[in-house]
Amino acid sequence: MGEVLRSLPSLRLFLSQIRSFQMECKLCGSSKIRGSRLRLPDLSHLIFLQYPVRCRVCYKREFVNIFKAFKVRRDYKARQKEERRRRKVQQASIARQA
Ligand SMILES: [Zn+2]
Repeated sequence: MGEVLRSLPSLRLFLSQIRSFQMECKLCGSSKIRGSRLRLPDLSHLIFLQYPVRCRVCYKREFVNIFKAFKVRRDYKARQKEERRRRKVQQASIARQA
């Protein structure tokens, strides 16, 4: 138990690093990264906790730590939801003006 408590600050640091982490494409430097679809050959990467992500600008596919990849996926979905909401509001205001 003492061991767990001692390792807790580093765990907290690790989690905060993941939360504040912003993924960037290694090829073009874009931060527009999304989770990539899993393929059968990816299983060998999953064993090492690596998950595929894809750059939305240059379409480069790469493997990152699975925790980072899940954050990328979450951020991407949240962004999509926000964009959909904004479009809806926009269309509603256009409809009102017409
Ligand atoms: Zn890129």
